[in-house]
Amino acid sequence: MADGNDNGREKRPLTRLAQGGRSRSITGAFVNPPVVHASTVLFPDVETMRPGGQPYTYGRTGTPTTEALESAMTELEGAAGTVLCPSGLSAISTALFAVLGSGDHLLMADNVYDPARTFADTVLSRFGVETTFFDPQIGGGIAALMRDTTRAVYVETPGSLTFELTDIPAMAAAAHDNGALLIADNTWATPFYCKPLALGADISLLAATKYIGGHSDLMLGTVSAAPSAYARLRSTYLALGLCVGPDDIFLGLRGLRTLGVRLNHHMRSGLAVARHLDGRPEVARVLHPGLSGHPGHALWQRDMTGASGLFGVVMDGWSQDKATAFLEALQIFGLGYSWGGFESLAIPARLRRSATDWQATGPLIRLHVGLEDTEDLIADLDAAFERVGNLA
Ligand SMILES: *Cc1c(COP(=O)(O)O)cnc(C)c1O
Repeated sequence: MADGNDNGREKRPLTRLAQGGRSRSITGAFVNPPVVHASTVLFPDVETMRPGGQPYTYGRTGTPTTEALESAMTELEGAAGTVLCPSGLSAISTALFAVLGSGDHLLMADNVYDPARTFADTVLSRFGVETTFFDPQIGGGIAALMRDTTRAVYVETPGSLTFELTDIPAMAAAAHDNGALLIADNTWATPFYCKPLALGADISLLAATKYIGGHSDLMLGTVSAAPSAYARLRSTYLALGLCVGPDDIFLGLRGLRTLGVRLNHHMRSGLAVARHLDGRPEVARVLHPGLSGHPGHALWQRDMTGASGLFGVVMDGWSQDKATAFLEALQIFGLGYSWGGFESLAIPARLRRSATDWQATGPLIRLHVGLEDTEDLIADLDAAFERVGNLA
C-alpha cells in the first residue's frame, strides 16, 4: 500500500502526506501506527541480543511509532534518513553537533532564528568552534568567507523575522567546493513547499512544532539528511541520547496528514492579508516573499512551490509605543511566540544582527495568519489601525 512507488509513478505531495510512514510492516491492518510506550524491549534469546539481532532493541533508539514519522519525513524531504528531536532548537543543535568539531569554522546567516545564534555563540564557542555571521543575501559571495577550517554553512530561508531569501544552490556549491556541508532550517516552507536537499543542502531541519504539529500543542523537531551527512547525524543523535515520547510523535503524524490542506489555506489567506496591508497608508513595507515587490520573490518562485502564513510588516514612522498599542488592540490575532498553528498570532519583532544592518522606517511586527476567516482577520487589523490612528 504505502511503500514506495507501486505503479512506477512518482506520488504527488498530498498523497505522500496521506501515505507516509504507513507501510504494513509498521501499522499491521490498521490505518495508523501504534503509539508504543516503551523503554525495555524483550528478546527471544541471548543470541538475538547481539547488535543487529532484531529491529527494535530499546525505547530510546526507536519504536514503530518513531519509525513511522521518521520514514514519512525522510520520504517528504527526499532524504537518506531522519531523526526526531524534542524541539526545533534541539534539531538545530543536533545538526550542528553532527557536522562540527573543535577547531572548525561555521558560517551562519545573520537572519536565523535567534536561539540558533545563541547556541553558536555559547555552546559551540565553548567547544572550540568559531562562527562568522554573513549577509543572508550574499549568494555566491559566500565563497570569499570560506576558510580552510570552514566545515558548515547554516541558513534559514526565508528568515523567520525579516524574510530575506537565501540562495540555497549557490550556498551549497560554495560549501561543497570548500569541503563543507550546508544545513538549512526549512521551518517556514516545510518540505511540502521546499526541498532543500534537492536544491543541494546536506541537512534540512524543521521546528515541527510549527506547521507539522499545526495545533500549538506540541514541541518537536526533525532533522533529515542526504547520504553525505546521514551517518554522522544518526551516530551523533544516538550519542547525545535524544528521543521523543510516543504521544508527541503521534501528534506530529496526525498533523502531517493535513499539512498540505492547511498550508494551502495559510498561503491563500496570508497573501490576501499581506496584499491588504500593502495597500494601507500606515504600512511602509510588507515582508512577504510571495509579493512581487519582495527582494527575494524571484528566488522564492525558483526554489519554492508555495508560501506559509508567516510574514512581517514594517510600520511607517511609528513609535514603539504606537506599535505596542496596535498589537494590544488586536482581538483575533493573539500575542504569542511560535507560529504554524491554526490560530493567528502577532509579535513585536526584536532583532539581533552583527553582519548586516536592519534598515527600517519604523517598528517591525510579525504576523502569523491562521485558519480563521480571512475577512475577519482583515477587519481585526483595520479596527486596530483605527484605534491607534491618532497616536504619535
Ligand atoms: C520556532 C523555531 C525554531 C525552534 O523550534 P522550537 O520547537 O520552538 O524549539 C527553529 N527555527 C525556526 C525558524 C523557528 O521558527
